[in-house]
Amino acid sequence: TDYLSQVLEAPETAVEKALRPLSFADFSGQGKTKERLEVMVGAASKRGEALNHILLHGPPGLGKTTLAHILAHEMGASLRLTSGPVIDKAGDLAGLLTGLQEGDLLFIDEIHRIPKAVEEYLYSAMEDFRIDIMIDQGPNARSVRLSIPRFTLVGATTRTGLLTAPLRSRFTLQTRLDYYDRATLEKIVRRSCKLLNVAITDDGAAEIAGRARGTPRIANNLINFARDFAEQRADGEITGSVASSALELLEIDRNGLDEMDKRILRLMAQNYKGGPVGLGTVAVAVGEEEHTLEEVHEPYLIQEGYLARTQQGRVLTPKAWATIGIKPESASGQ
Ligand code: ATP
Repeated sequence: TDYLSQVLEAPETAVEKALRPLSFADFSGQGKTKERLEVMVGAASKRGEALNHILLHGPPGLGKTTLAHILAHEMGASLRLTSGPVIDKAGDLAGLLTGLQEGDLLFIDEIHRIPKAVEEYLYSAMEDFRIDIMIDQGPNARSVRLSIPRFTLVGATTRTGLLTAPLRSRFTLQTRLDYYDRATLEKIVRRSCKLLNVAITDDGAAEIAGRARGTPRIANNLINFARDFAEQRADGEITGSVASSALELLEIDRNGLDEMDKRILRLMAQNYKGGPVGLGTVAVAVGEEEHTLEEVHEPYLIQEGYLARTQQGRVLTPKAWATIGIKPESASGQ
């Protein structure tokens, strides 16, 4: 796997944890989402009630987990973290839910990956704060009703389309996180460097922000590498040129594209005349998991206008052809 998917799919590191903003005031960007959440938190606190269920969606590394922590912190409640694939039996879910206290938040990352058989139990848990679970088998089989404290489900997923309609409809708020603009990312980079005691110039921060694909998690990771680079190859300060050389070593270009992104674009140009081509085909050809292409690479390539998604598959845009330096008419196809 390449650098990007390593960063975005790895478990959280201690450094990342230390950099996590703890309150809305400390969390930059995502204006609309932040405002919506602040309104809900304000109202629920005032009424002394649990927060309504919230679905956060958007590409990885933009702060869904961070927002769940902030929501719990602002509500003065506890947070339990889990993820869809981990809950594979109804019993697992029942155990999690009955262990919660009134007002607690349960964060389920990759909520679209909960098995269908378990998902149905979630409906009554979210709606009526109870679940009916079958115990025993054969003639002794009976259903037992468990009541659950009023809790808040915070679900996270990359796209709402991955959720079934009945699950989606049980969230009071569905809100999307977008890639951060460069100025906000620069602010996040400067904040992280300050917390880590890393010296960085304005040029250095701009360079890292510009190549971080609008993603704080990537920005924080690039800071780490740039800091090592600055200590080994310069005098310890991350200047514009230090940052730029460090990122070249990681093979991340000025536009934030890495080697895998470019391999995808080149493959589509050279073997498929720019498409349309199916994601599965691209995945096999570049030797990457389809899941990673879809969650990590494709959203950014689409957002930045290199790729377009059509009914027939993915197609290259003129910007993509220009970036890889191949002329559409000279591409041979297969
Ligand atoms: P995933 O979907 O992969 O779980 P995520 O969207 O939950 O990712 P987080 O783990 O919350 O992302 O955020 C990744 C890192 O980026 C965190 O370590 C956090 O410090 C930082 N971060 C996220 N959003 C912000 C922000 N608005 N301001 C400052 N730092 C941020």
